[in-house]
Amino acid sequence: MTGTGTRVRTGVATHPGAVREANEDSVLVAPGVYAVADGMGGHAAGDVASAIVVRRLEGLADRDCVTPDDVRAELVAANADLLADAAANPERAGMGTTVTGLVTVDAAGTPHWALFNIGDSRVYRLAGGELTQVTIDHSEVGEMLHAGTITEQEASSHPLRHIVTRAVGTDPGPKADLWVFPPSAGERFLICSDGLPLELTNDEIGAILRATDDPQEAADALVDKAVAAGGRDNVSVVVVDSERDPERDSAPDAAPDAPSSDVTAPRARPTT
Ligand code: MG
Repeated sequence: MTGTGTRVRTGVATHPGAVREANEDSVLVAPGVYAVADGMGGHAAGDVASAIVVRRLEGLADRDCVTPDDVRAELVAANADLLADAAANPERAGMGTTVTGLVTVDAAGTPHWALFNIGDSRVYRLAGGELTQVTIDHSEVGEMLHAGTITEQEASSHPLRHIVTRAVGTDPGPKADLWVFPPSAGERFLICSDGLPLELTNDEIGAILRATDDPQEAADALVDKAVAAGGRDNVSVVVVDSERDPERDSAPDAAPDAPSSDVTAPRARPTT
């Protein structure tokens, strides 16, 4: 995030896991754009689907100024890209993908994060030592959990837990959840495909993120642990750390983990 008073450090890791032959996840780390997409579809079309969507989002990194509306527009365009590719390549009919991540945007003249989600990949936020899942899983079980009709424990073994209710590549296109909030010193984001929480609990994920300062080492550790724990699905992670630029921000409130009024912002309901 050059020129905004905030810099980021990132780490990225992806692995097919211990069971699947192909890795249908795609990851994106480009200036101001960080994302994970988890492709679905027979005949190896899932990797095509996730790659197409990530390529579309990568175009945001080349722009001088990105707004939340631009993020929405690129997600709509990504859906059209997928439908067009499937129409031109009938063997890929029905392919789709999740996508979730973060984009540096300009909102009301100041830098913000736009955190977006379609599907059951996730973004977590670690701030003040506390790990919170920001995204709401677009799955049968995720929506029941969010509505309070089942418990976390029931969700973990529910037969519908892998049924995704929103995906890129559908007609009509999916509605994206979007949260827009200012960056906060010392916060860390984890963007991941569902292969990570399939193998590790939120407590285990939080412990690794708290114990490992370097974002690349944290990303590698998360993927290694998930594969060692069973690796039943592809597993992909992007770790993004917000860091204040000390030359621009020397005020006392720039200390990492300082409580601030925006800490709760990304936990609120998304705009849809
Ligand atoms: Mg997956």
